[in-house]
Amino acid sequence: MRFGERGLSLIFGTALLVAAGLGLFRPIDDALRDLRFAEQTRAASGNIVFVDIDAASLKAVGVWPWPRGHYAKMLDRLMAAGAAETVFDIDFSASSDPAGDADFARALEAAGGYAFLAAFRQKGDAYNLPLSAFRQFAEPVAVNVALDEGGIVRVAPYGLVVGPEKVASAASVMSGAHGPVDAGFAIDYSIDPASIDRISAIDLIEGRVDATRIAGKQAIIGASALELRDFFVVPRHGIVPGALLQILAAETLKQGRALEPLAWQPMLWVAALAGLAALVWAGQLGIVRVVATTLAMSVAAEAAALLLQVQYAALIDTAVLHLMLAAIVLRALLSEVRNRGRLHARASRERDETQRILDRVIADNFDGVVIVNSECRIVAASGFAEEMLGKGLVGQSATEILPPNLAAAVVKRLGETSEAASESGESVLQGAVGERTIEHVLTRSEIGRGAGLRSVVCLTFRDVTERRRAEARLKFLSGHDPLTGALNRNELVENVQGALERDSGSRGVALVAVDLRRFRLINDTLGHSLGDALLKQVAGRLQSMGPDAVARLGGGTFLLLVPETDPKRLMGFAETVSQYLSFPYELEGHQAVIAASAGATTSNLSGTDPDVLLSHADMALSAAKAIAGSAAVLFSPEMDAALRQKRTMDGAVRRALLNQDFHLVYQPQVEMESGRVVGVEALARWNDRDLGAVSPVRFIPVAEETGLIVELGQWILDAACRQASAWPGEIEVAVNASPVQFELSDVPAQVEKALEKSGLAASRLTIEITEGFFVGGGPKVTNQLERLREMGVKIALDDFGTGYSSLGYLGRLPIDKIKIDQSFVRKLPQDQQALAIIQTIVTLAGSLDKAIVVEGVETADQAWMLRLMGCKIGQGYHLGRPAGPEAISELFATAQERLSA
Ligand code: C2E
Ligand code: MG
Ligand code: MG
Repeated sequence: MRFGERGLSLIFGTALLVAAGLGLFRPIDDALRDLRFAEQTRAASGNIVFVDIDAASLKAVGVWPWPRGHYAKMLDRLMAAGAAETVFDIDFSASSDPAGDADFARALEAAGGYAFLAAFRQKGDAYNLPLSAFRQFAEPVAVNVALDEGGIVRVAPYGLVVGPEKVASAASVMSGAHGPVDAGFAIDYSIDPASIDRISAIDLIEGRVDATRIAGKQAIIGASALELRDFFVVPRHGIVPGALLQILAAETLKQGRALEPLAWQPMLWVAALAGLAALVWAGQLGIVRVVATTLAMSVAAEAAALLLQVQYAALIDTAVLHLMLAAIVLRALLSEVRNRGRLHARASRERDETQRILDRVIADNFDGVVIVNSECRIVAASGFAEEMLGKGLVGQSATEILPPNLAAAVVKRLGETSEAASESGESVLQGAVGERTIEHVLTRSEIGRGAGLRSVVCLTFRDVTERRRAEARLKFLSGHDPLTGALNRNELVENVQGALERDSGSRGVALVAVDLRRFRLINDTLGHSLGDALLKQVAGRLQSMGPDAVARLGGGTFLLLVPETDPKRLMGFAETVSQYLSFPYELEGHQAVIAASAGATTSNLSGTDPDVLLSHADMALSAAKAIAGSAAVLFSPEMDAALRQKRTMDGAVRRALLNQDFHLVYQPQVEMESGRVVGVEALARWNDRDLGAVSPVRFIPVAEETGLIVELGQWILDAACRQASAWPGEIEVAVNASPVQFELSDVPAQVEKALEKSGLAASRLTIEITEGFFVGGGPKVTNQLERLREMGVKIALDDFGTGYSSLGYLGRLPIDKIKIDQSFVRKLPQDQQALAIIQTIVTLAGSLDKAIVVEGVETADQAWMLRLMGCKIGQGYHLGRPAGPEAISELFATAQERLSA
């Protein structure tokens, strides 16, 4: 069976009370009592003198026991001196010499009942009573005292049963204070034995004592001589003679200081019981409070006991209280110790648990975590950290494990005194898994307090190798052409800017734009993969020429940034580039030869805006491309002006189209024999608000370049067909069409729409195309011509003789008419060569069954000559200037009139 702490306390406390009840604490209580005696010293009443058979008396008499005559003498002297009573603390139970006994009996008789003789109990049932010879004159008084277990005398009796008799004690007799026989009282040892008058027995016998010391006083005769061995041990005063002890007992009674156990001793028990309760609960109180309270209670109890004993001759036993209080303190102490132990155990359990959790959390961390203590040792590391840095990190020195820059950062962090914000960065690890880039954060924490303050550094890191690689790749891709590795346009612009900033205007920079010619041919014939291979080789050759940067702008166009700005040397470089690129290329067994055009400009020519520099290089390149073969051209400001004009024109054309600023004029085509108008050519006109009248020679090429020609062409077709449908049925209309229209749109479909809307017969419409049409156009274009002809629309070849088309080819072209260019006509009539050409064309056309129209007939002579050569239809100022539709309508009306007239 187990007892709780409280149960044990209860048992212990009860045991304490039982022990107190059984008087087990008597010695302690006695000792406390003794100590209290020492607190005060009282003088004896002075009414009792001690007639002392001291060593000197023994020596003077010489024998022991003394002859009884000596006692007789002492009694006589005392009585003579007026002593009130005399008590003999001497054994008179046996006879001595008869003379002496008789003398003593006489003296006793003379004392008249004021003398008393010692009676005492011996060990066992033995006792000593005075001889009956003496007793007839003197009462016996008991002189026994009680020895406690320690052999100390504390208590004296009021009376004793000695043998067959009840005898009052000496103290009781001398003080007149009586009490029940065999009841004792505690002797008050605060009474000072030294204040008791001592008279040496021999002095008394020999009459040397002043009677005043004796008169009216009680005397007790006893021995103090050591040889007589009548001694007792008492508290406070040590060894005292038996007689003196009798006096102290008598004095105690005389002074009313018979020390009695307090009547309310039970109160103490109540207090002790309260203490017991306190003991049971003491565990719950704070140790300091318990100690303070119990100490105060102890002191208070002791003070009360002292006051009672000293002031009121009342005795209380406080030992049980003190012990109980001590037990309370002990109990509180034990419980404090145990509580602390428990708290400590719980704290360390929690610490262990927390530590385990932390270890687990760190070990399982997805990131690299390394914790370094103030000695620079690794105290914890995550699994990932071990993967990166090697196994068994814990316990190792961080400076040996970490790369130098990180180790230095950790050491620096550890040395810092203030908690700074965390610090992050990137490092390269040469770990177990090769070279890895990590992103890390270092935080420093302070642990502990005061002298135990330490710092730890936590390094958290993450592998960003793949991310950085991807970023680097993206960065490269964002700035480079993936095929050739050359820069892209944006990156080049940045390079140009950088170069200009570094240069800060002292020397300037130059750009060379390069375009490969016949590259498309390589692509088409050898395939794209070889085309790509060629581009790579081109990039390699360009790099090898040592420019600051090479960029590819797409297709076969490259751009070089070069530091050379002297125009002559720059052109030399550009020419070398174009020639070098023209050397044959080896492409998987194929030999490829291309040409390259180069256009160059410098910041001195074009300024420092990279965009402007690039566009100027491009203009120069365009100029170079206009030259056949490999050529290099330096930018000149005129190129810019021309381009600017073109741009202005472009905007204006757009606007004009939107505002419907275009209109058509019609130039008659005349049968020269009769002068009859057989048709008209529609010619576009534009009167711009700002630019004035703009020739089609200027705006048509612009519209072609921008693609606006499609829209414009449709409008012209519609307008011309609509107008023509209002004219007499035999009048034909010719409309010019650009090759670009055929390339970008479906001209037959447009024509069909126009005819449908206007209601004009297809046979009345002629589409004029130029020779250039057949140079660039493929089957798609000629196919359209076939379709037009199938619809019934006629095709005329305009400006014949100015282009490339050879006469031999003429027969195979899907055309109905040939318009001989005005440049031949203009030379008539003088120029024989022109005459021969015209003659040849006319003859050929006749054999091929193609109609002829001659352009630019300005004079009557020309008209006459041409007519002679067999040209039937003519067009020119001489025959009719281009005019608005009203004028032309009027012309038809007059012709009608003439006809009908
Ligand atoms: P073209 O088709 O050969 O047109 C004839 C040009 O010669 C016209 O110039 C006309 O005014 C001019 N001309 C006519 N008779 C004489 C003459 O006796 N002496 C001289 N010196 N010139 C004469 P224009 O109208 O300036 O047109 C020039 C060119 O613009 C045209 O040459 C044609 O190629 C193109 N063009 C004009 N209108 C259109 C159009 O509506 N569509 C397209 N695609 N091109 C057009
Ligand atoms: Mg024409
Ligand atoms: Mg013409």
